[in-house]
Amino acid sequence: MFFESEGLDHQGYCFRPPSEAYSILFQATLGCSHNKCTFCNAFKYKRFAIKDMGIWEKDMAFAEKYCKRQKRLFVMDGDALIMPMRKWEWLLGNIRQRLPWVERVAVYGNAKGVALKSDEELARLRGMGLSLIYYGIESGHPDVLKDIRKGADPEKLVEQARRLKKAGFALSVTVILGLAGREKEKSYGHAVETGRVLSAVDPDYVGALSLMLAEDAPIYERVRSGELVLPEGVDFVQELGLMFAHTQLSNGWFMANHASNYLTIKAHLPEDREPTMRRIAAALNGRIALRDEWMRAL
Ligand code: SF4
Repeated sequence: MFFESEGLDHQGYCFRPPSEAYSILFQATLGCSHNKCTFCNAFKYKRFAIKDMGIWEKDMAFAEKYCKRQKRLFVMDGDALIMPMRKWEWLLGNIRQRLPWVERVAVYGNAKGVALKSDEELARLRGMGLSLIYYGIESGHPDVLKDIRKGADPEKLVEQARRLKKAGFALSVTVILGLAGREKEKSYGHAVETGRVLSAVDPDYVGALSLMLAEDAPIYERVRSGELVLPEGVDFVQELGLMFAHTQLSNGWFMANHASNYLTIKAHLPEDREPTMRRIAAALNGRIALRDEWMRAL
């Protein structure tokens, strides 16, 4: 979800998860250090950088004065977890001292950013107050991960996510329906392998999004040339059903309540498995209407 705002220093289009809508949005970095995922146009026009400390200080002073009602803080942009420890120490130390009412600090992270931190450093970040990591998995299928240039294979995604969990972070992961295209066999593989990876990670939250095509995202060219045929509404729901059926969480939410989805589901696993499978089946049988195309948005 992107926005532009006044007050805190926000450069260019900014993105945050829907659940951070009321958070203090502290833009510590610009862009994404990876910036290669083919479905993502979020930071195409921004070069990755850590913002000047003078701007950090001004933003902290602004938050100290004007953000007293906001109990959550989200550190932007796309993979700010990758910042060096001395930057995190400044940021988390200042949040603790100057914004003591903030109860939750969250950030986007990817496998590369996690791999660059030792277990000890992750534990230190957790101890200093960073508590929730939004972690992009997108797919559990090695071919799909290669195609979308995620920069990590399934094993690396699982390994780094588990390190986050071991350090005590709450983990919210995203997966993207439709990434393998419409072809039955590929869609099946994407759904099943993603369910397998989700089960291995066992996160606190899973957010399933449906692929929406942006003309300036590299994947657009594959679609335009006919190399990748996108699924249609009911195909997305079929894929969602398969992925859900192959996902075992010990105590976590599986949600497909993003505006891009054709069918909304919100299930706490393991107990909501059966009713959710019935809901998906009802949608596939036409007994529950899918969201109209014009209503889908990011
Ligand atoms: S890591 Fe995230 S922000 Fe960066 S290019 Fe990939 S999807 Fe986009």
